[in-house]
Amino acid sequence: MSDDRSSPFASLPIVDVSAPAAASCAAPPTAFPAGRRLPPWLRQNLAPGGGHGETAGLIAELGLETVCSSAKCPNRLECWSARTATFMILGNVCTRPCGFCSVPRGKTEALELDEPERVAEAARRLGLKHVVITSVTRDDLPDGGADHFRRTVDAVRAATGAAIEVLVPDFLDKPGALEMVMESRPDVFNHNTETVPRLYREVRGRKSHYPWTLELLGRAKRIMPEVKTKSGLMLGLGETRDELLDVFADLLAHSVDFLTLGQYLQPTLDSLPVARYVPPEEFDEIGALARQMGFAKVASGPLVRSSYHAREMTEDGLVG
Ligand code: SF4
Repeated sequence: MSDDRSSPFASLPIVDVSAPAAASCAAPPTAFPAGRRLPPWLRQNLAPGGGHGETAGLIAELGLETVCSSAKCPNRLECWSARTATFMILGNVCTRPCGFCSVPRGKTEALELDEPERVAEAARRLGLKHVVITSVTRDDLPDGGADHFRRTVDAVRAATGAAIEVLVPDFLDKPGALEMVMESRPDVFNHNTETVPRLYREVRGRKSHYPWTLELLGRAKRIMPEVKTKSGLMLGLGETRDELLDVFADLLAHSVDFLTLGQYLQPTLDSLPVARYVPPEEFDEIGALARQMGFAKVASGPLVRSSYHAREMTEDGLVG
């Protein structure tokens, strides 16, 4: 298999990573040279496993969306071969112009009222023990889609008895939206920070605000203290080490339990460029720092995504 086929991102245009050091992590510069190809540690052996087509077929049959496909996740073959996927509800069109994301933006679709049951059916047929449910951002809906989230969690739980993780948008800080989601009593409440506050506007657009992220996570914990709260950041967007550590401290001050750190990969030509490829050793080092600071679980690595091995993260002892 050639290198170009070994990863769905192998031929994406990547900007010059010899950008000024001040624009990247404060750690030693990555030796990886500028160019259009991924560094070796991001080239995966993506030989299709037995369940990949089966998972894809089930998702297609039930007319579901997944963030695995819509966000061009590099782990899709691995996860789908292991018969796991992250369901994306509320349509496939987003109302926010985030610079890192490949989910289409534009005119949103009407809610599909039977979607919660179809997600539940997929989770049941896949035999999932831990179901991650996320969504596009729906600022056009009065509740931001919170009631649809609640209905989906209820339906999945009734059909599977699985642990459920919700990975939610900020609901535009709409009153009552978070409380509505929490009524469904998810096992894990996940809301991604994505990047450091200095880069928020560029990465997440003008409608997203760092204080909202912290407040949402903190309020979720206050509403339901037993819920595990979780957040994730992408590295390689131009953040510094000190900025990352400040975010970790802010998340801990808002009682966040789990942290995920992964490499940002440019999903389309129009998306934000990669500022730097962070080597695996540096992910290890930053992950160790985060653990020392107090997170209960940290997953840190180039291909870590917020839903990657999500079940293992919630199970004691598997991810330190
Ligand atoms: S890491 Fe998450 S989004 Fe990516 S393929 Fe796996 S389940 Fe899907």
